[in-house]
Amino acid sequence: MTRLEQGDASNSSRLECDLHAGTHVDAPWHYNSTVQGKKAATIDELPLEWFFGDGVKLDMTRKAEGDPVTVEDVTAELARIKYTIKPMDIVLVCTGRDAFYGAPDYIFKGCGVTAEATKWLYDRGVRVMGIDGWGWDMPLNLQAQKAMEKNEPGIFWAAHQADLPYSHMERLVNLGQLPPAGFTVACFPLKIKGSWVVIISPRGRRRPGRCRRLYNRRLWRRGIVPAP
Ligand SMILES: [Zn+2]
Repeated sequence: MTRLEQGDASNSSRLECDLHAGTHVDAPWHYNSTVQGKKAATIDELPLEWFFGDGVKLDMTRKAEGDPVTVEDVTAELARIKYTIKPMDIVLVCTGRDAFYGAPDYIFKGCGVTAEATKWLYDRGVRVMGIDGWGWDMPLNLQAQKAMEKNEPGIFWAAHQADLPYSHMERLVNLGQLPPAGFTVACFPLKIKGSWVVIISPRGRRRPGRCRRLYNRRLWRRGIVPAP
């Protein structure tokens, strides 16, 4: 941004980026302002211990776009790899969709971990989970399709909205190269005070109706949902 040869006082650069971009970890504050009746933790409030632990990989590469990853899928895979989840394990869901990372249709790729499977892992002491797809829930266009078909609340971001104080990582890559278990995961997030790691503005957070309208309009412009 500044160069000595241009007459500036120093050579320096500036980096600006969206916090909810690329491979990232979502703090509970991203899901809701409260979780289980208490203020949801921002990324800087989470214990570092959460982000360093034994890794477990669940192979879900057989799942098609929008398929749910259920409790039965998780328990069957754990039985197949002969692994018992213990508290503070870091569970990585391998979908193979990292092959599309950077492609225009990456956002439409991937299965979705259900709220029930997320809770099942949480109940066993898992606090950090991750997936090598665009999102922990199914792709947004398929959430929208399901919401229009069912016309009931609770479809959008069901696992994000599971009311659990946990974190998930999204858009991981190269999980296919990992063994099912026997490895350590270190995934410390940047300590950014008050960060929820999110794309929607604070204005939307305080005014959820407006937030939803703005978000729907953005999706409509991209052709993901019909005109609002
Ligand atoms: Zn996210």
